[in-house]
Amino acid sequence: MSSLALLGGTASVRLPQPHFRWPLVTKAHEDAVLGLLRAGEVSYHRSAGAVQQLEQRFAALVGVPHALTTHSGTGALLAGFFGLGLRPGDEVIVPAYTHLATVFPLLHLGLCPVLCDVDRQTGNIDPEAIVARIGPRTRAIAVTHQFGHACDMKRIVAIARAHDLQILEDCSHAHGATVDGQHVGQDGDVACFSLQAHKTVWGGEGGIRVTRHARVAERAALRGHFRQPHDYTSQEAMPWVDSGFGLKSRIHPLAAGLAVVGLDTLAQTVAARRRNYHHLCARLAEIPGLRPLPTAPGVDRGGHFRFIAHYDREALHGLAPQRFLEAVHAEGATEVWPGWAARTLDSYRMFHNAEDPIGLFGSDYASHAPGDFPAASAFAANTLQFPAFTEPANEIIDAYATALHKVASNAQTLVD
Ligand SMILES: *Cc1c(COP(=O)(O)O)cnc(C)c1O
Repeated sequence: MSSLALLGGTASVRLPQPHFRWPLVTKAHEDAVLGLLRAGEVSYHRSAGAVQQLEQRFAALVGVPHALTTHSGTGALLAGFFGLGLRPGDEVIVPAYTHLATVFPLLHLGLCPVLCDVDRQTGNIDPEAIVARIGPRTRAIAVTHQFGHACDMKRIVAIARAHDLQILEDCSHAHGATVDGQHVGQDGDVACFSLQAHKTVWGGEGGIRVTRHARVAERAALRGHFRQPHDYTSQEAMPWVDSGFGLKSRIHPLAAGLAVVGLDTLAQTVAARRRNYHHLCARLAEIPGLRPLPTAPGVDRGGHFRFIAHYDREALHGLAPQRFLEAVHAEGATEVWPGWAARTLDSYRMFHNAEDPIGLFGSDYASHAPGDFPAASAFAANTLQFPAFTEPANEIIDAYATALHKVASNAQTLVD
């Protein structure tokens, strides 16, 4: 066994950088942007042109009637939560392992996040933990389909029905993701996607919120799209029909044009990532202590967002994952990332020991201590992330697998 680069040996990955590129900007993107610029389409008052195309095609992709673009995924989440018509002080159950952006909109709407543990295997919200977190003020559940793996929506919808709760789905990792052939985002009351540059369908910055309910669509549109000519029908919307509700959060037409190109090529992107993921999984199977996340039958992770591996410390002589990753990076496998960089929400100060920190709730949302959600902590602490390789990547995956195998085989040396 050759000696580890970390200990003065020769690095095993010698492929030129970058090892990974995303987003991939193509001629189609250039043409889309130039076409819009030359037509002077740099702002729309209504859903028109590239924005309308994006909204109609995204709604069709997910299989629901209403879609609304926003300037960011966070904006889509804010509009989505607003669209649900919750009242200040209402509680919303959220996973302890998710992007902070899933939760921030709640605070801006005077809603109270109630953290909930996740499934140790997938990182998705744990339905049984949801049940335990329901209280008299609970009105909604937010779920995030982590790394494209759909949450157990059958169970979550049943829980929501039994307790009269609404559901928001954060689908920012789940473009092109399906369960039994059905796109994710149809089961809840509203679903939100980020179109930020790292995501599978991207506009650079942007977001989109889809729903099957006209009432949710209208309310969400009022908040961010003032004076949007929209056929409002719900009673709730009537006082605001002629004015809107002020905060403008429209997507830029150029971003919408870029995202339409991403929709044109989504099937190819998903197929390419699926091939690369299978290759990575086959190579991980040869490496002690690493294994891909399980994927439930019928689930397709679509664009994935990232490829994830579980790190089994016991199988690696107790070697800390941080030290393992240091050695992997020294071998030249620079695009293997720490799962623990995605901190669990209970590790942030805003959730600690502050009584009602922004004076809105009179609630105990900030009463957590780091480690309150053991499965979420274990998931973050014991996962490695890989890029969702889209370009042909067998060579790079093979080189990384060699590096990972070398470090895993020398785990004992690193412990000593
Ligand atoms: C990226 C992301 C967001 C936020 O989207 P932005 O477009 O960056 O505002 C929210 N939730 C999840 C799960 C994300 O991955």
